[in-house]
Amino acid sequence: MKHKKCPRCKSNDLVKSGVIRNRQRFHCKACSYHFTVEKEGKSIDPYYVVKALQLYIEGVSYREIERILGVSHVSVLNWVRKYRVRSPENYDYRPTYKVLNHQELLSLMASGNFLKNSGMMITELGDKYMLIKWERFRRDNIGNQE
Ligand SMILES: [Zn+2]
Repeated sequence: MKHKKCPRCKSNDLVKSGVIRNRQRFHCKACSYHFTVEKEGKSIDPYYVVKALQLYIEGVSYREIERILGVSHVSVLNWVRKYRVRSPENYDYRPTYKVLNHQELLSLMASGNFLKNSGMMITELGDKYMLIKWERFRRDNIGNQE
């Protein structure tokens, strides 16, 4: 709460004044303005917005994004709408993901087989790394490429 500011006068002299539809309501003591924000602090950090949208693009479901990032699936849904993010159609593979510390990431990468025939993305996630992996050529959606 310490970084919150009044959207009108930028004062941070705020008091909580109830919750409306899962949004925390604040009252600015400096200018008497009332405003609401998403209840979870994380959900307003652009960092999590970007991560959530990355996961969404990779085909991770709203509920899974909620579980991984700790932001509500409703927030994710709203961001997807707000930024008009769309996954390509027929994008029906199911990615797997892991959250790893640096050492775990290194030992995973040390195995050559791990990298074969798969798409992969590594992204920072707080003090850890998230690795998203998917099979690149799947007979049922690209034809017999392999
Ligand atoms: Zn104010």
